[in-house]
Amino acid sequence: ARAFHLVSRPQGEPSEDNFRLVTSTLPDPGPGEIAVRNLAISVDPYMRGRMRDAASYAAPWQLDQPAQGGAVGEVIASGSDQVPVGSLVVHNLGWRDYAVLPADQAAVVPRQDGVSPTLYLGALGMTGRTAYVGLLRIASFKPGDIVFVSGAAGAVGSMVGQFAKLSGARQVIGSAGSPAKIDYLRDVLGFDSVFDYHDGPAAELLAQAAPDGVDVFFDNVGGEQLEAAIGRMNLHGRIAICGSISNYNKEQPEPGPRNLGLFISSRLTMTGFLVGDHSDIADEFTRTVGGWYASGQLVARETVVHGLENTPAAFIGMLKGDNTGKMIIKLD
Ligand code: NDP
Repeated sequence: ARAFHLVSRPQGEPSEDNFRLVTSTLPDPGPGEIAVRNLAISVDPYMRGRMRDAASYAAPWQLDQPAQGGAVGEVIASGSDQVPVGSLVVHNLGWRDYAVLPADQAAVVPRQDGVSPTLYLGALGMTGRTAYVGLLRIASFKPGDIVFVSGAAGAVGSMVGQFAKLSGARQVIGSAGSPAKIDYLRDVLGFDSVFDYHDGPAAELLAQAAPDGVDVFFDNVGGEQLEAAIGRMNLHGRIAICGSISNYNKEQPEPGPRNLGLFISSRLTMTGFLVGDHSDIADEFTRTVGGWYASGQLVARETVVHGLENTPAAFIGMLKGDNTGKMIIKLD
């Protein structure tokens, strides 16, 4: 079996030298354990935080130990009656081709025609659930709202925009980092208004895109776009703080938004959240979003990189914007 280890902690942008692919012998699963052949693994922005030796909600990765993260795979040997050989499972021992883990740390997911297992890492998995929780629960979206989402062409952002449209938003505005992504948001996902954040000051671009203001802002990016969004919020606007990717490679955080006084005059709220705290929403999420997908109403684009050996490059590329939709590594 092969697994990537973190061998040094990145300063600023990660590089492939921070990782090493290490081969070892896979043990047989003991009682209550399963052995899984990973079909696909996920690289996600929060992993940048786990590369730092600092306390956070997810423990730092240890140097010279296998990295971890979302993966979907097939059970090839089982010491558990609950999770027999052949089951499709989602678990947290990614960055490797084979894994042995306690069966109760794996979630069995259905094999369905027309549903790629990779979707359980994206639209029907963690990133889709993040979009759902942030929009509907944290930002209390209601039909008729004007929604702005930053990082709109990514895994979470592309679901936020589509969920908002499907739930009756009055206008959906998205920002992203390339002309191709802007076309994708407008022409494929049906966003009403879009801008490339490289094209000028975010406050000006958003003012043009959102002439009637913003009721719900879903923040994936932080920084300049967060300040711009605060400046555009309507009375009683709600901001869901999901991520702050513009800061993840910075060794020193940027100064915060300068316009927090608007929280008082416009009675705004801003709430941070972690998808992991909302497991109670799983059934509702699967019913609703699985239903949208099954009926062909949801576009779940993926950017697929092939081969375990390309995982660090895929991670580094994702941080730079190489992906449209969910970044996935398929292990063929
Ligand atoms: P994405 O699929 O959106 O990939 C990351 C994207 O970030 C890139 O494609 C790039 O797109 C964009 N980006 C990178 N640098 C910058 C920058 N400086 N300014 C603006 N955009 C930038 O990732 P996810 O959908 O998986 O995650 C999106 C956000 O959600 C992240 O902040 C992540 O940490 C957060 N998250 C939070 C969770 C929670 O529970 N709170 C759970 C899951 C994710 P572009 O080309 O547009 O620049």
